[in-house]
Amino acid sequence: VNLLNRPIRQTGFLLSLFQQADTAAERIHHLLDQESAIQNHPGAQPFTHLTGSLSMQDVSFAYDAQPVLQHVTFKINAGETLAIVGPSGAGKTTLVHLLLRFYAPSAGDILLDDHPIEKYTVESLREKIGLVMQHPFLFDGTLRDNIALGTPDASFADIQQAARLASLDSFIKELPQGYDTPIGERGVRLSGGQAQRLALARVLLRQPEILVLDEPTASVDHLTDAHIMESVSALMAGKTLLVIAHRLATLRNAHRILFLEDGRITGLGTHQELVTSHAGYRGFIEASGDKAGRGGV
Ligand code: ADP
Ligand code: MG
Repeated sequence: VNLLNRPIRQTGFLLSLFQQADTAAERIHHLLDQESAIQNHPGAQPFTHLTGSLSMQDVSFAYDAQPVLQHVTFKINAGETLAIVGPSGAGKTTLVHLLLRFYAPSAGDILLDDHPIEKYTVESLREKIGLVMQHPFLFDGTLRDNIALGTPDASFADIQQAARLASLDSFIKELPQGYDTPIGERGVRLSGGQAQRLALARVLLRQPEILVLDEPTASVDHLTDAHIMESVSALMAGKTLLVIAHRLATLRNAHRILFLEDGRITGLGTHQELVTSHAGYRGFIEASGDKAGRGGV
């Protein structure tokens, strides 16, 4: 069980320590509302076996009247890494949220292993697909409990290992109460990047079949980013990875890159192919350029 596969309203989790965020908080509340709105379809079944191919076929979506995704079609083969790139507001996060069924597409199909995702229960979907959100949920408990959320049987050694892979272990060890430090008002207040790394540790501990990262290293330095992405690659070797990212190293390592603009796919190919054929992508790479070391994801 993980945080997302039970009715969140019943879990009593406090939200996020990230006080950046009236807007983020509003978004999340909105998400929770939607969460309870999505029901299992009659006859939905848990996954029994998942090889990990994933596709969208002509998917469109609007929150309100304004279209956010339009005719999105792509496929990721099992074991591939797909990076999604595009300007802010392009619909990248929304695309991922459709995949996890926080919302349902207004048109089109989302397929896992060539079956429409509605065929499966929402719980099993979210168990098989690990998601690290831009603004993850944390609850009012210790660091250790927060990392083990969704993996209650995890040993302390495994919890520490996951934190190491997520570049969080050394920070935690420096705290007087270490892993037993509460987070929130009475304990440590995590930065945005630390909260995200905690969410990453949580997911790595769970070893999902498919991993989805929404700008996982937006607020970390280059070295930490490289370490995190190495951990992710090692742990997820042979598994399907979908990562919303801007950093050159991540893009180069992806099998394919999807360029999203205004809710539409305007480019889909390898880094080399897009550099050659897609002016927007080229501009994007140039703009992030050597800043790839310091700047955004
Ligand atoms: P990206 O992740 O590429 O920055 P998003 O998927 O977050 O883009 O947002 C795409 C568009 O949808 C933006 O115009 C954004 O303002 C809008 N949007 C995102 N979330 C919501 C929401 N919960 N309700 C209404 N509009 C939203
Ligand atoms: Mg986003």
